Amino acid sequence: MYQLLDLPRTPIATLHKAREIGLEVGLRYVYEGNMPSEVGENTYCYNCGKPLIRRHGYAILENKIKGSECSYCGAKIDGVHM
Ligand SMILES: [Zn+2]
Repeated sequence: MYQLLDLPRTPIATLHKAREIGLEVGLRYVYEGNMPSEVGENTYCYNCGKPLIRRHGYAILENKIKGSECSYCGAKIDGVHM
């Protein structure tokens, strides 16, 4: 959407479907970018399902990863956390 201006933007339904497919095959942290105000732009804990990172556009509104764990259930969250 940023610089590929000669093609139409990816439909929202396509982004939702891509996220669903990723989650169905076992990917744990699939989220949609450039989708303000949509549930799909957040990252959820694979264990308890609560929101770990809430986003709005490029902004992180809330980060519930403490150390490398979910602050709700203690599940280890993969990745490099700062
Ligand atoms: Zn959790």
